[in-house]
Amino acid sequence: MSNILLSIKDIEVFYGPSQALFGVSLEVKEGEVVALMGRNGMGKTTTIRTLCKMSKPTKGDIHFDGTLVNKMPSHKVAKLGVGLVPEGRRCFANLTVEENLVAAQRDGEWTLEKVYQLFPRLEERKDQLANTLSGGEQQMLAIGRALTTNPKLLVLDEATEGLAPVIREEIWRAVKALKAQGQSILIVDKSLSELLPIADHCVILERGETVWTGTPDALTDDLADRYLGV
Ligand code: ATP
Repeated sequence: MSNILLSIKDIEVFYGPSQALFGVSLEVKEGEVVALMGRNGMGKTTTIRTLCKMSKPTKGDIHFDGTLVNKMPSHKVAKLGVGLVPEGRRCFANLTVEENLVAAQRDGEWTLEKVYQLFPRLEERKDQLANTLSGGEQQMLAIGRALTTNPKLLVLDEATEGLAPVIREEIWRAVKALKAQGQSILIVDKSLSELLPIADHCVILERGETVWTGTPDALTDDLADRYLGV
């Protein structure tokens, strides 16, 4: 049996006085792709923010690679091997593509060359400032940056949102290649037709709570209708 890389158990999170998470639990095993799903505002981004310690849980535990990370600052969690590609693809606007990648780099298999193999467009634009890239190229750079940290878990929050179809295809091709290489991935994406075929497990959130976990095969039309509004 593969090892559990990430275990989130029954976390509760508040934004000021208002409660956003009421009991989210999920697991990612090594080498798995886990899809975190649910309609808008159900708590997907808050769950990811909490994993990366940008929000603090008032209840529940988060273990990453065997370590309790509840009380750790976000840079320590990143160092343990959580590579976040946040919603909105933030990069250093006034650095070049290559400078962005180098700034994030840590020892490991993900060299600049390997990132450029995954996204040849980034190599073509390596001397260009990040703020002159198209939205899709910035997304590739955000994924490349996360990869150069050599993460044990890659976390993708709405990586294909708002992108042109051909760029979305390129991002999905890269995600599939990463899965094939055994990269563990926690992913939020609205495109179920792309997401479900690559997911090993799905976790559905409804009003800040995990309401269903299972394989994509077990996700019936009824469940999708009830929880995902499709
Ligand atoms: P979406 O798909 O729209 O991004 P989501 O499933 O990622 O949705 P969250 O963004 O985690 O959902 O939001 C969960 C709840 O927390 C929502 O009710 C939202 O309004 C609330 N929330 C999110 N961010 C904040 C914030 N910074 N301050 C206050 N409330 C927030």
